[in-house]
Amino acid sequence: MMPRFYCPFCSPHYQIYKKRAGGQMLCGQCGEPLVKIPVVKPTQIFALIAASAFIAPLLITAFAFIQDLNKPQPRRSTQLIKIDFEERV
Ligand SMILES: [Zn+2]
Repeated sequence: MMPRFYCPFCSPHYQIYKKRAGGQMLCGQCGEPLVKIPVVKPTQIFALIAASAFIAPLLITAFAFIQDLNKPQPRRSTQLIKIDFEERV
């Protein structure tokens, strides 16, 4: 796979690339050397962190709920939890 490049000084929508004799990629507009695009963009990493921060509490809640169900409980308290749950729904 060819490494992708971009110019950090020009708009990503209007980039013209040219290759120098040495094989280095240059911007066709400002002549600056192009920067290699990383495999994972920092914005993607941030999105991943944001997504996991949003999902993590849900997973922890679900896990705690499952653990709670597996716990042997006296009948009365189980019924109370069930009633409470139904009232919330
Ligand atoms: Zn440029």
